[in-house]
Amino acid sequence: MPVYNADAIVLHRILLGETDKIVTLLTREKGKLNAVAKGARRAGSRLSGATELFTHSQMQLAVGKSLDIISQCQVASSFPTLRGDLELLARATYLCELTDRMIEEREPNPEVFDLLLSALYLLQRAQERPDLIVHAYELRLLAERGYMPQLEACVRCGGALQRRQSAFSPSLGGVLCSGCRFSAQDAIALHAETITFLHALASADPETLLALAPSPAAAAETARCLRWYVRYRADRDLKSAEFLDSLRVQASRQHNVSRG
Ligand SMILES: [Zn+2]
Repeated sequence: MPVYNADAIVLHRILLGETDKIVTLLTREKGKLNAVAKGARRAGSRLSGATELFTHSQMQLAVGKSLDIISQCQVASSFPTLRGDLELLARATYLCELTDRMIEEREPNPEVFDLLLSALYLLQRAQERPDLIVHAYELRLLAERGYMPQLEACVRCGGALQRRQSAFSPSLGGVLCSGCRFSAQDAIALHAETITFLHALASADPETLLALAPSPAAAAETARCLRWYVRYRADRDLKSAEFLDSLRVQASRQHNVSRG
């Protein structure tokens, strides 16, 4: 059987039989693909850690009849910080599910691979505001797929945006000026500060990104816009996104209790 090497991140895994797993990998070389990890659930298997969600490994795979087979692997990072914190684990899981949903199989895209790997590393450092990393990744992944939202001018009339009374329409894929803001049923009100913040999320280098400090209003509007826009582009809701919603609601309740 021919073999090949791949730099891989695990996006999804399911159990197969008594001891095996089928994993969905995002590889730098061949894009997204499914592979079998034989014996990965046996105690002491070298494939065990490498086939956990969002682990990054260098793998050797053999080309199989239907699915390729992982023959060797060396874990580069298992991101223990992300596994030890429910807030971070939920976000890393979401990044993987979103990527799995948005990427076609066997279409090599090293940019998306690097984007995801970088987001996982940054998430480990973003204990204060992990959603900065999540939203930056959402925007950049959407841009890679050709779905970058239009933030420069009104998506409907092309007119300039005013400082006040703008909106965002997930189905139109961009911002609406004050004159057009009632023309889309799904329009979400948006402050000028939020549009500036969305621009920063889409383009900031890692250190600048980690240092961003949006107002609570801009953070909430950004979360709302991207939640609906991602759902629109992904064609359905993601399980991990629903779980993240519940964590965010809990966190904001605790925040309000501690303030009030
Ligand atoms: Zn307009």
